[in-house]
Amino acid sequence: MKTRLSVTLVTLATLTTIVLPGVSISDAAAEVNVYSTRKPQLIQPMFDVFTAASGIEVNVVFAEKGMLEKLRSEGVNSPADLVFTADIGPLSDIKNAGLTQAVQSTALDNNIPASMRDPEHHWFGLTSRARIIVTSKDRVGDGDVTTYEDLAEPKFKGMICTRSGKHAYMVALTAAMIVHHGAARAEQWLTGLKANLARRPEGNDRAQVKAIKQGACDIAVINHYYMHKMLADPKQKPWSDAVRVVFPNQTGQTGQTGQTGRGTHMNISGMAMTKHAPNRDHALQLMEFLASEKAQQMYAQLNGEYAVKPGVALADSVQAWGDFKRDHVDLAEVASYRREASKMADRVGYDD
Ligand code: FE
Repeated sequence: MKTRLSVTLVTLATLTTIVLPGVSISDAAAEVNVYSTRKPQLIQPMFDVFTAASGIEVNVVFAEKGMLEKLRSEGVNSPADLVFTADIGPLSDIKNAGLTQAVQSTALDNNIPASMRDPEHHWFGLTSRARIIVTSKDRVGDGDVTTYEDLAEPKFKGMICTRSGKHAYMVALTAAMIVHHGAARAEQWLTGLKANLARRPEGNDRAQVKAIKQGACDIAVINHYYMHKMLADPKQKPWSDAVRVVFPNQTGQTGQTGQTGRGTHMNISGMAMTKHAPNRDHALQLMEFLASEKAQQMYAQLNGEYAVKPGVALADSVQAWGDFKRDHVDLAEVASYRREASKMADRVGYDD
């Protein structure tokens, strides 16, 4: 099991001299095996820094789908030590299936706020991301769309595009709407949103921004860091230049769940140690490194994500949007409504 990608933006030569917290020099044959639903290029730079400092190889298997089934079928013979996901949903599913173990670590507890980790110490958030709305600068007025609830307003008929309603990011948003409004009102909302779609859901988050640039739709829902990524890509920069970033649900009443000023829906990427991790000590070293200042800075600067560790600087492009109010609803509670949210997407024929 071996995946090696070239290191961008950071050269290994400069890194071998850096002493990292929680990392000790170990046997060169030492390794950690990772199953990841996160794209390898988003985490490999951090793994390379870890390996350079510790001598511990990180072997990555990228599995966009079926990680839970793979872990389950491998059982005690699984080579996997750690799992990485881009969403709380799959992470809590794997925990709930009994495939992870609790990890006690002062370093993890100190660097990751309690709201971003499992109270039972099975999963740990590494980065957080905002599910933002983007609107056409040319065809939508500034301030016309300010909440997720607005997306279901009939005045936006034929103007919205999103990825599949069954994708983890959309399912989590729908699940959060269930938490805030209850299932019946959440379903009305999803029905209204579906009725406003300009086209059948297709493509990933970036494809929706491209569609706005091309005039296929005017409003989209995406994760914030894709704006950071598109700005840095000469081909995609015109797409991101065509839209305005809206952090939803910033104003209005707050204090109670479901009120319009509750803040923007957030999710996390995170990690967990597998129940039968064969390289437990090395895996713990990697976990602690990823929560450290150095790795958290890399997540923020390279990926444009929000570090979970307090005080870590944002990427310039992300900083430029200013501060915003986050929805602090319990992510584990949101995750508990995922199945219902997914069925809801089927019921309203979201992808049809
Ligand atoms: Fe993503």
